Amino acid sequence: MSEPSCLFCKIVAGEIPASIVAKTDRVTAFHDITPQAPTHLLIIPNQHFATMAEVAAADPKLVGEIVALADQIAKEIGLDSYRSNINTGAGAGQSVFHAHLHLLGGRAFAWPPG
Ligand code: AMP
Ligand code: ZN
Repeated sequence: MSEPSCLFCKIVAGEIPASIVAKTDRVTAFHDITPQAPTHLLIIPNQHFATMAEVAAADPKLVGEIVALADQIAKEIGLDSYRSNINTGAGAGQSVFHAHLHLLGGRAFAWPPG
């Protein structure tokens, strides 16, 4: 299922361009348009869910597929460490309400995050 007004559904459908690095029948990975690190990819379910919590509730295995694809890509591009980030809700910084995991790598990261 897709949401006609959703930016990331349009990317999955090929209706707007994105730099896609991997795509399975259930998950797509593409470059973030405003990278916050030398590597900054977004890993998303092809089906529309507003948040990763909704993915977990509807299809927990799909969350695992998203995390596994992120790790596979990180290994393929030679990242020995990386940060995964899931923003849930506007107060946490979520701006696109189609579930996504940020995969960030290639620089040092501070903890706690800002
Ligand atoms: P979040 O703030 O966690 O919802 O993350 C949304 C991310 O989507 C941000 O890092 C944006 O830079 C990114 N983004 C927005 N529009 C696009 C686009 N057309 N292609 C790729 N990434 C995008
Ligand atoms: Zn969507």
